Amino acid sequence: MILTSTREPRTRARFGEAMTQNLAPGGGLFVPLALPVFDDVDGLLELPWIERSTEILRRFLGDEYSEDEITAVAHDAFDFPVPLVQVADNVHALELFHGPSLAFKDFGARFLARMLRLERDRRGAEGALTVLTATSGDTGGAVALAFWRVPGTRVVVLYPAGRVSPVQERQFASLGDNVLALAVDGTFDHCQALAKACFLDRELTAALGLTSANSINIARLTAQILYSFEAVSLLRRRGHRTAPVLAVPSGNFGNLCAGLYAAKLGLPVRSFVAATNANTTVPDYLENGTYEPRPSVATLSNAMDVGDPSNWERIAHLYGRDWSALRAALRWGSLDDDETRAALRALDAQGYTADPHAAVAWAVLRRRLQKTETGVFFATAHPAKFRESLEPVLEREIPLPPALAELADRPLLSEPIAADVEAVKARLRELAG
Ligand SMILES: *Cc1c(COP(=O)(O)O)cnc(C)c1O
Repeated sequence: MILTSTREPRTRARFGEAMTQNLAPGGGLFVPLALPVFDDVDGLLELPWIERSTEILRRFLGDEYSEDEITAVAHDAFDFPVPLVQVADNVHALELFHGPSLAFKDFGARFLARMLRLERDRRGAEGALTVLTATSGDTGGAVALAFWRVPGTRVVVLYPAGRVSPVQERQFASLGDNVLALAVDGTFDHCQALAKACFLDRELTAALGLTSANSINIARLTAQILYSFEAVSLLRRRGHRTAPVLAVPSGNFGNLCAGLYAAKLGLPVRSFVAATNANTTVPDYLENGTYEPRPSVATLSNAMDVGDPSNWERIAHLYGRDWSALRAALRWGSLDDDETRAALRALDAQGYTADPHAAVAWAVLRRRLQKTETGVFFATAHPAKFRESLEPVLEREIPLPPALAELADRPLLSEPIAADVEAVKARLRELAG
């Protein structure tokens, strides 16, 4: 796969380079130079999940990696189920939270971890690889678990102190070993800005073998293309032949971007719904044409508390930065916390316990779905990850699955740090020794 940049159209990079560099030269994001249109989508949709995913990855990456390498990575990274659960007559949840960190970010993080190792092995690179990631909650756990105790790698997680759920925090801040968690005195936007500043420091990047696992990494997006195919495949197997509407709970807009790529590849999707919480930068833009990033506000669906969504640049690029084209391609809407609580209760009354992110997608989907259409909302996290906020809303206990119950007793090993670039860089330099 050949990639170019959202900002510099003459840029060219192969997948392995783009994945390792993370940001394109000049600060743009890597995007596919051209997306093929698959002429055998019906056949692909008949394949089982892992065979189809391997085949799609082979089409993207076959020019750089062997069939055996791609097959091994796919089987190892995506070794958990992706169920589609019917919630109402024409509404289904695609559950993306059955991986180790119980959120959809496992797909991207596990794929990235394996591809980075592959890339490093073939380059014969010396020295450690340091993955630096800013998290609003779920990326940290997915990335830390994907790299934990992998020889030759380190993970540094920057997260906004006090703004992630206790379970989320334990997933990355109680691991230790090669995982360092830094609790930043600030918001997710600060964390993201700090990470960006570190990557722009060439000396630091070289000294640590610094690489990113943020949702701007092209490898993460690539993995996330795969499950939109699974949604349509599972619907077909149940007799729903018409192209569905897919609703994506969005923060940094990586998941939505990957879904739009799937549609460009020929996946039959009627429309995508961009669903946000009170961080309404994108819905406001689609509504009134002015793109105004702003500081994020804290909500119940904290993994979507993003005021300046980094992947929007890719989506805008995909549609030639044309407001009308974007409005034609998308439906959109947002929920404040009161509406999110109401959605959680309504879904619960229907017999489906959602996490706050999935509830946002479900409620916006309901508003935007016509009666004759079939809708799928992405259930992006296990409800137990957010039990502290869910239990008072649903007025009952949410049981912890065993993987999370084990975490509860682990001590937190995170270090507090100021939202200050020099402080973060100094701490990172200590790692290089
Ligand atoms: C990260 C996350 C989102 C938002 O995904 P983006 O790709 O950043 O838009 C939604 N739900 C959950 C549970 C998440 O962890």
